[in-house]
Amino acid sequence: MIVSLHVAVGGAAGALVRSRPLALLLGPPLHVAGDHVPHEDIPDRSFEIGSGLVALGLLAGRRGPFDPAVLGGAAAAMPDLEHLVPWLRLRGEKLFHRGGGRHGVGISAEAQLLLAGAVVGLLLARRR
Ligand SMILES: [Zn+2]
Repeated sequence: MIVSLHVAVGGAAGALVRSRPLALLLGPPLHVAGDHVPHEDIPDRSFEIGSGLVALGLLAGRRGPFDPAVLGGAAAAMPDLEHLVPWLRLRGEKLFHRGGGRHGVGISAEAQLLLAGAVVGLLLARRR
C-alpha cells in the first residue's frame, strides 16, 4: 500500500483514539493490515517517500508534532523503512513484509492517493 495512505490511516486512527501510546502501538499492525488489502503500488520510490513526508509534515504543522494523529501516521508508515534500510531487518528477514503482500491487483494507486488526500484533508480541517 502506498506510503501516504499508510500515513493517512495511521493518522486517522491516532485522531480517533486520542492517545499517543495507543497511536504508536496501532501503527505497525495497521500497516500490516493495509498491505494485505489487494493493492497497486507506485514504483517511484522518491515519490512514495516524498508524498508520505508531505502528508506527515502537513499534519505536524497543523496539529503539532506530538499530536496522536501525527504519531499514528508516522508509526503506520515506519514499517516501510525496512525496504530502504537493510540493517533494520532481522537477520536479513523483513519483519513486516513476510509473504510479500498482494500486489498488482486491487485498489489502484490513483484511488489510494485520492483516499489518502481525502483523509489527510479531513484531519487537517478538524483540529481534534
Ligand atoms: Zn509496507
